Amino acid sequence: MKALPPSERREAKLRVQMIFQNPYASLNPRRKAADIVGEAPRVHGLVGGDLGTFVDEQFRRAGLDPALKHRFPHQFSGGQRQRIGIARALAVQPEFLVCDEAVAALDVSIQAQILNLFMDLRERLNLTYLFISHDLGVVEHISDRVAIMYLGRIVEEAPSEEIFARANHPYTQALLAEVPRIETTKRGFAAIKGELPSPLSPPSGCHFHPRCPHAMPRCRTEAPRLKVVAAGHKSACHLNDAAV
Ligand code: SF4
Repeated sequence: MKALPPSERREAKLRVQMIFQNPYASLNPRRKAADIVGEAPRVHGLVGGDLGTFVDEQFRRAGLDPALKHRFPHQFSGGQRQRIGIARALAVQPEFLVCDEAVAALDVSIQAQILNLFMDLRERLNLTYLFISHDLGVVEHISDRVAIMYLGRIVEEAPSEEIFARANHPYTQALLAEVPRIETTKRGFAAIKGELPSPLSPPSGCHFHPRCPHAMPRCRTEAPRLKVVAAGHKSACHLNDAAV
């Protein structure tokens, strides 16, 4: 493969940015918010005019008042700090954002505001997100396509609606059964049995077999491959072979 020239390599790197789980730990406590947001675009020569005006625009786009830009991170609330993280990532005009548990550290009412901001920015700036989350309610709300992972392997992948309507893999089915819902009828909760094994020494065969209610002898020795089970829907489970 031909290597990109240094200037294009730099540009390619800027196209992918990251939003971190803990907005407090991911902002430099010694820098003012304006410096945090403005530094990368200044260093990469992305600011045509006045840097202050540019930073004000980034603040407004992330739903922050530019009058607060000379404050330090500890002078903001948790939701405002996450907005600074979003403004910092968007300031270099990325196309792709990796959002690693980006709302997990926030209060539930603030989570909704930040999720709405993510969706609004996706529409306005034509962004793509890789949104990593343990909260299936959040996943259903924001995702077009979902990949479920267990111990480092993708076990199921499908459009969001398909996963939530017709989960195929026993692990996905167990996860969805535990999602809290507002219902008038009583529901019993059955936790997935057993402890989560160490990812450093995962079980042989299907990693999920010690906890799976449908495990067969084959599951202990043979890792299932991700196979198409419906249009656009893949799952890694030997039960799908037995059904054929
Ligand atoms: S391959 Fe076997 S152990 Fe793994 S999820 Fe399917 S039935 Fe369960």
